[in-house]
Amino acid sequence: MSGLRELYQEVIIDHNKCPRNFCKLSGHSHYAEGLNPLCGDRISLYLDIQQDKIERVSFEGSGCAISTASASLMTEMLKGKDVEEAKKLFSVFHALLTGQEASDEGDDIGKLQVLAGVKEYPARVKCATLAWHALMDAMSGAETHG
Ligand code: ZN
Repeated sequence: MSGLRELYQEVIIDHNKCPRNFCKLSGHSHYAEGLNPLCGDRISLYLDIQQDKIERVSFEGSGCAISTASASLMTEMLKGKDVEEAKKLFSVFHALLTGQEASDEGDDIGKLQVLAGVKEYPARVKCATLAWHALMDAMSGAETHG
């Protein structure tokens, strides 16, 4: 079990050190900001959604390792998903972090599993979900062209 935990930590450290899709997206269609005042995490999330499909996604910001790694992993997961799939992924991920059983069996959250350990630290759950809340805000917001 400790080996698995170490592997999880390695993934988080890696994504914190070298966040994926860490840039401003030119020509994005949706945008949102997220702030977690408890920890000082900030994120700007950019989406390019075409016909309900997330074609491109990126983020910028600064924060703790958990918030950065979670945002980085999220952008990897979202590419090519449609809006409904992204919303479902959020609810499965949120359930995982708040210790609820996922409603559907067999939901594949892939690498997001590495963040499951956060549920033992309730104060850090907001760090791990910050990017996801920004995602939900961005998807529900009006289209912006920037
Ligand atoms: Zn944080």
